[in-house]
Amino acid sequence: MGSQEVTSWTDMNITVAGLGVSGVSAARALAGLGASVTVVDGGDSPAHHEKAALLTEAGISVQLGDSTTLPEGTDLVVTSPGWKPSSPLFVEAAAAGVDVVGDVEIAWRLRGPDAAPWLAITGTNGKTTTTQMLASILEAAGLRTAAVGNIGTPIIDVVLQGDDAYDVFAVELSSYQLHWAPSLRAHSAAVLNLAPDHLDWHGSMEAYAADKGRIYAGNQVACVYNVADKATENLVREADVEEGCRAIGFTLGTPGPSELGVVDGILVDRAFVDDRQKNAQELAEISDVNPPAPHNIANALAAAALARAFGVEPAAVRDGLRNFTPDAHRIAHVADVDEVAYIDDSKATNTHAAQASLASYESIVWIAGGLAKGATFDELVAGAAKRLRGAVLIGADRGLIREALERHAPEVPVVDLDRTDTGAMSAAVQEAARLARPGDTVLMAPACASMDMFTNYNKRGEAFAEAVRELGATSV
Ligand code: ADP
Repeated sequence: MGSQEVTSWTDMNITVAGLGVSGVSAARALAGLGASVTVVDGGDSPAHHEKAALLTEAGISVQLGDSTTLPEGTDLVVTSPGWKPSSPLFVEAAAAGVDVVGDVEIAWRLRGPDAAPWLAITGTNGKTTTTQMLASILEAAGLRTAAVGNIGTPIIDVVLQGDDAYDVFAVELSSYQLHWAPSLRAHSAAVLNLAPDHLDWHGSMEAYAADKGRIYAGNQVACVYNVADKATENLVREADVEEGCRAIGFTLGTPGPSELGVVDGILVDRAFVDDRQKNAQELAEISDVNPPAPHNIANALAAAALARAFGVEPAAVRDGLRNFTPDAHRIAHVADVDEVAYIDDSKATNTHAAQASLASYESIVWIAGGLAKGATFDELVAGAAKRLRGAVLIGADRGLIREALERHAPEVPVVDLDRTDTGAMSAAVQEAARLARPGDTVLMAPACASMDMFTNYNKRGEAFAEAVRELGATSV
């Protein structure tokens, strides 16, 4: 089954990898279209059996406890995000000449002839925020839209609502999804930034970048890149796009022609205006962006560029940005206690994200640590050293951050909490409060994953907020 021109699903034997949210959605959708579907999952727990029973009722076969054997007669394999390309199931499929694709590819193939165009977003950090900003702008323009992809309702379910249900989609795409979506052709797309992440999955930085770059393939109107991140511009240069598609940069500085940027606190467009050599169009003020941290202004400019590429008016860009509220645990202001601001950026699970939030405040007591996922901290700490009032370290890999602090910020006081229990967050906040002076910011931007101490980054953020509340209750 090498063809991308699938006209009938009825005669197909499809194997879906994994019983997760996207796997279940894909399995149900494809079975609903008449395909014979088998879901395979290595798990064999009661929870797996419960899920399997529901699918079996819907006429879907489930193979539990064995995720390596490709069911006989498979014509197409549908992946799930966590599965590495080197998974035995995919290797076996490739050897048998069977296509392997992801949920995004299936959604793309399921679209009708009059389907809503996709405005697509990827990048190492800022994807969710930018996609939601874009959806908010499109809504403000009166368009029927949804934020989908690596976010919200499974993309297949949304596409199956029919061509008439939406005018345009804001689509967040992970590098995994892009890897497995060979025929995707977005109206316009943005790569926000590119820093090493998930290299264990992709195998190398080159492979990771190449997968991100697929988002530009076949773009019709605009390839949006980050002027401050050459790697994103290089991906545009290498992309094979439709005739007439333009490269559009975004920058926190003054924009050149075909760029969006910032002039005197105003977000301006020098790309989608008449006579861009001379003219610029005012879109919004920096204070319309929530929160107005530098990296988030960059996100807003990227969202604005995609919206403008789709023909959205400037006033809707402003209104959409004003209406937008970020998801929890992304530079969320929890409280001020004794003239110190407490900020929860638990979502900063890698060094690139933590770097962005450390750059957003002047004088910081930094709470950091957790699972490093193979990262090094020298660059991050060296860049932030002059802003640090102090640091409080928690979690399994805190030693790596402590060593980086010793090397690059020896004068900064460090409290090394030798704890990985959940209660450690409360102690960390108390230590941070002790180090902070009025006007400082206590920033929990751990630069690490949370799973050594918490179920996920949400729980870590909640623990921080709870500890700050306790602190507020005891302070006089
Ligand atoms: P993603 O969906 O790519 O994980 P989010 O929008 O959820 O991105 O933001 C994740 C974290 O990345 C945030 O907590 C913030 O600290 C950081 N971040 C957001 N936007 C950017 C950006 N443009 N550059 C660097 N870091 C960013």
